[in-house]
Amino acid sequence: MASETLTSLLLGVLTFGFVVPQILEYLQVSMPLKQVPPILAEYLNDAKLLEAKAYQKDNFKFKAITSSFTFLLTFLFITQGWFGEIDTWIGSFGFPPLGSSVLFFGLVFVVSDILSLPFDYYSTFVIEEKYGFNKTTVPTFFLDKLKAYLLSLLVGGGLLLVFLWLIHSMGPDFWWQFWIVAVVFMVLVNVGYTAWILPLFNTLTPLAEGELRDKLLQYAAKVNFPVKHIFVMDGSRRSAKANAFFSGFGKQKKVVLYDTLLEQHSPEELVAVLAHEIGHYKKKHLKWGMLVSVLEVGLLLFLLGQVVFSENMSLALGGTALSVPLNIIGFTMLFAPLSMLMGIGMNALSRKHEFEADAYAKETFGGKPLAEALKTLSVKSLSTLYPHPWYVFVNYSHPPLLERLDRLEH
Ligand SMILES: [Zn+2]
Repeated sequence: MASETLTSLLLGVLTFGFVVPQILEYLQVSMPLKQVPPILAEYLNDAKLLEAKAYQKDNFKFKAITSSFTFLLTFLFITQGWFGEIDTWIGSFGFPPLGSSVLFFGLVFVVSDILSLPFDYYSTFVIEEKYGFNKTTVPTFFLDKLKAYLLSLLVGGGLLLVFLWLIHSMGPDFWWQFWIVAVVFMVLVNVGYTAWILPLFNTLTPLAEGELRDKLLQYAAKVNFPVKHIFVMDGSRRSAKANAFFSGFGKQKKVVLYDTLLEQHSPEELVAVLAHEIGHYKKKHLKWGMLVSVLEVGLLLFLLGQVVFSENMSLALGGTALSVPLNIIGFTMLFAPLSMLMGIGMNALSRKHEFEADAYAKETFGGKPLAEALKTLSVKSLSTLYPHPWYVFVNYSHPPLLERLDRLEH
């Protein structure tokens, strides 16, 4: 493909990736406000519903501004050939190709993070604060940023180095070689997430002896689920939103409950939440999810291999000669629509899995306590009661609350 045609294609794809999500966001926020459904009468009132709508509108406006900003900036970078100019400038230092590529991505990462910082800050300390979700302080916010930087420098930087080294030295074979590296990395993260990564950001304390611990262990034993540890995580340090999950392979299961969850729910409800999570494990959802991700990464790398050595892609972005970093940037843009399609598929699978995990909890423990827990969680997090069906189709990884309640309570 000629470089001029490629430039137009990139701009087209970029515009599509900006406009379609905006339309969906608009449809979602424009859904009319309805009455509180009888099933939620104990948990909700009209005031709470209005508050949820206001939260949704604030987030809509905020997202519209941030994505317009990103869109316009990227548009300018392509049409003005700025990506190419940066690449030529870095090339003028005379480093070997691998060194120049690392420098290019380091620069892109730092600049885009600095640009997004004010938006992150606003979202946390203005919007989330306004609705009472934010529990983080300014020092914790910046300390988290610093830790995340160090972590991405160590882990992301290491991976990027291996990735770029393989491209520069192995040529077209790099894609399957890096695929193997990526899969090993994904498995390691999955196994070590609670052991290595979470403790950097949060404190995990073993759940105290008592009714809740007994009930959780009793249920786990009943369904033959090997729980090694139950931890409580200080999620309340940052956000009032609640969650629960477990991690680990084989007989090393660690269950992690947010302290915010403990404050809001009865032991019965918490067992039901755990039952749902165990349902995911028993129905092999985690293994399927992992397999799909592995295939997705393989496809991504294979397709990248078709673009990464193309001189025309570099020219299309304003470069003067074949440049690996420019081609990677071009590829990530071209890949966006396909990535959106795959996301739709993944979300559909995920929604199916959520129903199955709910059904498992209903069979092995009871639908009522899980329904109660979901009601409290959704009301607290101000989630949308009547989402637009297209928005659900594209963006929802979980089925809408009312559909889940319907299946749990009937
Ligand atoms: Zn689930």
